[in-house]
Amino acid sequence: YLAKEGRTGVELYLADKDRNSPERLNLLGDLRRAIDRSELRLYYQPKLDLAVGEVRGVEALLRWRHPTRGMVGPDEFIPLAEQSYLMRQLTEYVIDAALEQAAHWWHTGVHEQISVNVSARDLLDSALPERLEAGLARYRLPPKAIQLEVTERILMTDQAYTADAVRALASLGVQLALDDFGTGYSSLVRLQRLPVSEVKIDASFVGRICESRDDERIVRSIVDLVRSLGLRSVAEGVESAEVAKRLAEMGCDLGQGWWLAEPMSAVDATEWLRKHRDQRPVPVKPPFE
Ligand code: C2E
Ligand code: MG
Ligand code: MG
Ligand code: MG
Repeated sequence: YLAKEGRTGVELYLADKDRNSPERLNLLGDLRRAIDRSELRLYYQPKLDLAVGEVRGVEALLRWRHPTRGMVGPDEFIPLAEQSYLMRQLTEYVIDAALEQAAHWWHTGVHEQISVNVSARDLLDSALPERLEAGLARYRLPPKAIQLEVTERILMTDQAYTADAVRALASLGVQLALDDFGTGYSSLVRLQRLPVSEVKIDASFVGRICESRDDERIVRSIVDLVRSLGLRSVAEGVESAEVAKRLAEMGCDLGQGWWLAEPMSAVDATEWLRKHRDQRPVPVKPPFE
């Protein structure tokens, strides 16, 4: 098990020389209690069709309201949780909360797919597909109500077991997205073999397409590649109207970013989704005019 774990990239964190720093151990201890104390919440960020402005899904993003530190971002605590058995508990919480929200929306006429991020360690958990299947049944949800986002880096690290894990998840009928694309050097062959339906282009490329011709070319070629494979492209980190417009011109299918819609609490997201839907087919913002 540990040997397998080493191949996922988790060993990078384990090798980190201040992994036992008091700071990190404190935070890990706090995280252990955070679930029971309801300090964790999912926020929801819509993904929009860049051509017509309609919502095509919502990504669940974990937030931790720490009693003294304030908001702690997932980039700080997910890597920490990944070193310990806590990641499993965290993912159980995330999947359950996302399913509960999906059921609430689904059964009140908001048929938006919720995407859940899964980490390297989650793919080692052989109970994950069954838990997901049981959760879908419990909430009477079709598999397409949930999408799982797996980063490109994870899928590149170990071919055998990640591919098996991903296939087991895909066989449930849930859709898979390849997250942070462009940062992990996938081969075309690999991309074609994976049962993914969506490729999310990393924000580090998207952000500068209006300033950098290189970044513009990279994003354009990813969009073309994704389309030629019959998959859906999503640009992450859409922070301005200019970027959204340029992406739409390139034929990028969906966009996600602060300029389109920020991650919101469940209550705010529900209101945002209702309002946005009521304004259809008249889109709220350019470039959808
Ligand atoms: P990600 O899955 O690539 O999520 C996208 C990140 O971009 C989110 O950061 C989101 O808040 C942020 N973002 C949204 N709009 C913009 C924008 O216009 N510009 C820029 N620069 N960024 C934008 P966040 O919420 O801090 O999450 C960071 C990462 O933590 C996520 O990256 C994901 O890998 C991980 N994560 C978040 N929630 C979970 C979770 O429930 N489970 C696991 N395993 N990982 C999670
Ligand atoms: Mg994601
Ligand atoms: Mg991403
Ligand atoms: Mg990311």
